[in-house]
Amino acid sequence: MNRRTLSHFTGCLLGGAVGDALGWPVEFMGWEEIKSRYGGEGIRDLDLKGKPYAEITDDTQMTLFTAEGLLRAKCRSVEKGICYVPGVIHHAYLRWLKTQGGEPAFEIGTDGWLYGVEALHAQRAPGNACLSSLMRSRNFGDMARNDSKGCGGVMRMAPVGLIMGLESVFDTASEAAGLTHGHPTGRIAAAAFAVLINGLVAGQGLAEAVESVMKTLGGGEDSRETAAALKNAVRLAKSGKPAVEKVHSLGGGWVAEEALAIAVYAALSYPDSYKDAVILAVNHSGDSDSTGAICGNIMGLMHGEEGIPPEWVRQVELQDVIRAMACDLYTGYENTDEWREKYPGW
Ligand SMILES: [Mg+2]
Repeated sequence: MNRRTLSHFTGCLLGGAVGDALGWPVEFMGWEEIKSRYGGEGIRDLDLKGKPYAEITDDTQMTLFTAEGLLRAKCRSVEKGICYVPGVIHHAYLRWLKTQGGEPAFEIGTDGWLYGVEALHAQRAPGNACLSSLMRSRNFGDMARNDSKGCGGVMRMAPVGLIMGLESVFDTASEAAGLTHGHPTGRIAAAAFAVLINGLVAGQGLAEAVESVMKTLGGGEDSRETAAALKNAVRLAKSGKPAVEKVHSLGGGWVAEEALAIAVYAALSYPDSYKDAVILAVNHSGDSDSTGAICGNIMGLMHGEEGIPPEWVRQVELQDVIRAMACDLYTGYENTDEWREKYPGW
């Protein structure tokens, strides 16, 4: 049974946002500090920190702008008959840059609806590679001139896996990550994640989907680090009880292949429980919001919105915006003036 349903698309985006929000309060804490703050089993519930909602971060913001770029690219290709998708995604990322107070080096459009969502203009520890490469770019589609393999590419790539076809998902994700991350692993881990999401949408089981990602990666030099990290995640998930030490052995998740591996390890450890998987994905000394977001995308897609604890969905910031974007991704395109105003084709 494929997962091309509104509930699964919504689950993917909301699941990522909830995982992001669960991990954010502990993003910069070591495991010992997490335990002393939240108890021996770590953080197990959303921490609202006195606010009426649990904050999302740059991971969810950029995922939404990736989705916006894809939908605007779809409009463009319908209208013009041709479209370089990563170029339109780049335009969306430059709007995100502006939400963070950064100024693009050339004129961009702030039309469409997403930029106008004021709460998205909050700064939640945005990644340096993303900010600096976007500020430096001179044209839509300019690839990053840096050697970064931070997890800022992979963490935002779920929408590409949701709506691109099998023939273009890998290259689109690789190039969309390459807009900000110049190291091959920064691109390839993002492509691997999008292929994984794509396989789950098509109805593959999780283990099977991870297996097909490994086959897609093959044995080339650019794929080497990502393939090795995923191989470790699979091996650890088969090796008895889940444990934070096993998460730590995969790294900190600050770099792309480690973030993907931690998220996949957590998902494979608890394939039947969104909640248990994301709790495992955020409780470690590394980049907890990104590993939580990636794992949340995977688990939310697998089980649909119903698989996410309803009280978490109610508490997560911007759930209406995230839900609306998931619905539009599911729709893909509408030949109406209203749609073209929401997603102008450039
Ligand atoms: Mg973040």
